[in-house]
Amino acid sequence: MISSNRCVSVVVPVYFEEEVLPQLYERLKKVLEGLADDFIYEIVFVNDGSTDNSIEIMKELASFDSQVRIVDLARNFGHQIAVSAGLRYVTGDCVVIMDADLQDPPELIPAMVSKWLGGFEVVYGVRKNRNDPFLKKNLASFYYRILSKASEVNLPLDTGDFCLMDHRVVSELISLKEARPYVRGLRSWVGFRQTGIEFDRPERAAGAPKYNLIKSLRLGIDGMMSFTDLPLKSAGMLGIAIASVSLLLGIGTMFYSLLQTLGVINGYNFSRLDALLTFAIVMLVGLLFIYLGLLGQYLGRIFIEVKRRPLFVVRDAIGFDKRTNPLEKK
Ligand code: UDP
Ligand code: MG
Repeated sequence: MISSNRCVSVVVPVYFEEEVLPQLYERLKKVLEGLADDFIYEIVFVNDGSTDNSIEIMKELASFDSQVRIVDLARNFGHQIAVSAGLRYVTGDCVVIMDADLQDPPELIPAMVSKWLGGFEVVYGVRKNRNDPFLKKNLASFYYRILSKASEVNLPLDTGDFCLMDHRVVSELISLKEARPYVRGLRSWVGFRQTGIEFDRPERAAGAPKYNLIKSLRLGIDGMMSFTDLPLKSAGMLGIAIASVSLLLGIGTMFYSLLQTLGVINGYNFSRLDALLTFAIVMLVGLLFIYLGLLGQYLGRIFIEVKRRPLFVVRDAIGFDKRTNPLEKK
């Protein structure tokens, strides 16, 4: 692109969003058209394997709007990978990531852009209020606090993927070839000058949430696994704690039975101790299995990394300039 104009790219992962796409396009378009005159823009929809009408709607938009581009993934790879795919296709000087369901209000983009113009390389949205179900909201808040404490990287609280990033940040992000990317964590990991903008997170504009409990949990586990080794270390800490307690118990029991033998104290019904012992053994076996499972998680992840499969497969890329389209370059 030979032009002095600055380009804003917007990446939107789309998974069964036919209800909300027209509304999203309208609001996003209005905001982008409202940017200063020396800005140009592109909207990069990533179809994450939706089989509803989403792809038809996007193609329709691309047919009359040359600013709309589509990366059509060959199947559902998941939100984080869809975002990562989009980042590999953008050409903007800065890049916005936002959900399709309008929970990330496009009206915040101008404020993000002005922070970027002011010298920040990452501007992320901070969810001041969150209109999500009670359980999800509180679990998420608790989770972000634990992860932020446990991680060595400074992970800002209550932020999702909604953000604007300078193109340098994006090129660092796409050079990280993790098989299970946790985008908001990696975005903190790369560093650069970062700041947040608070916003009230509305309910999704239409359609049903695509993140069910399992998908949310999986995302949570991905975050924990890639940004802290606390779970692994906790096995060692728990081991030390249990060993210390059992050492004390052992010494106590020996002392007790010695006093009994010497006739200093009367006999004690040892069957209660048996019950205690049974409980302790059962609990320890349980804990052992939990930690075996945990080791399995890490091992599974190492296995996935070792296989070195590509992160995603693209069926089609529509609306891209031939020079910038990675499919054409292949
Ligand atoms: N999404 C996706 N792939 C998936 C699940 C979700 O691309 O497998 C997209 C979805 O279309 C939306 C965004 O990710 O644009 C966030 O999904 P959702 O609104 O369901 O998540 P929530 O806001 O409930 O966390
Ligand atoms: Mg949502």
